[in-house]
Amino acid sequence: MNTGRQPVACTCYVFSCNRQAHKCIFHIFPAMIRERKISEPEFLPLLELPKKKVKHSDHYFIFRDRKLLLLLDSGIAALPSGEDLISLGIDIQSKQYLGECGFSSCFAAETSPAFTEIHDLVFEDIRKLPAFLEETLASLAGRAIHLLEWDKNTRYCGRCGSETFRKSDERAKQCPECGLLFFPKISPAVIVMVEKDNRILMARSTHFPPGRYGLIAGFVEPGESVEEAVTREVMEEVGIRIKDLSYFGSQPWPYPDSLMIAFTAKYLEGELRFNDGEIEDAAWFGRDEIPHIPGSTSISGELIQSFISGYR
Ligand SMILES: [Zn+2]
Repeated sequence: MNTGRQPVACTCYVFSCNRQAHKCIFHIFPAMIRERKISEPEFLPLLELPKKKVKHSDHYFIFRDRKLLLLLDSGIAALPSGEDLISLGIDIQSKQYLGECGFSSCFAAETSPAFTEIHDLVFEDIRKLPAFLEETLASLAGRAIHLLEWDKNTRYCGRCGSETFRKSDERAKQCPECGLLFFPKISPAVIVMVEKDNRILMARSTHFPPGRYGLIAGFVEPGESVEEAVTREVMEEVGIRIKDLSYFGSQPWPYPDSLMIAFTAKYLEGELRFNDGEIEDAAWFGRDEIPHIPGSTSISGELIQSFISGYR
């Protein structure tokens, strides 16, 4: 008979966590971490390290399998510094300089796939970071993984196959043979909250977990404006026409390289239909009927909260 303690599944809000609770940082440390975030000034993107009279510890955004390495110190989650890399024997590769946060230089890098979590080091999903790190640093983690992925995916020219090099005067790479330039790829996507009679439209994709509904969203296609993309996505996914399209805001979404551009709109005409195989249900929800409210750190969460709060 097995008398050992049964592992407890993680119930944190990150859908893909899939960890046991004792291995998830949200369960290891209590909510007090969230009240003790690191305070940092604004970020200044740079290509070259400046000559500095005053130097603080560097910030290293180190990834393995798209998860960020955090150093746990007395209940506080922090980014490792250059000194930490040496003292903890953290081997990094693909290092990129990002810019300056106050007097701290910021770097993106990856560990080898074989590097494992040791004592006070954990790898965490970057979607959890707003709970631990000041907003600027949490946002920088997204920038860091975006640039690391871009670097990996553009090592060779897609036109002639030559090895590319990093340019020194801009964040770009170039082919030495044919001159083709490679800028960090950003894939614009749109998301829209459509309102009708004090209710908003939410739809359920076939790959959503049980009970989950979301706002209509999709990628912008070549040759299309973002406004045209919103109108097309709503028509394609649920078969209705919209009006009064209004810009709400935008958010970098590095999963892997999107920029989410958010809108609000009003219902114009048509009946909800969803028979394209992508959407299995769609409906109008009042303020007290919303089936799922994303975290406030996502722009879809901000959109829905603006509706619930009645600011619109
Ligand atoms: Zn080339």
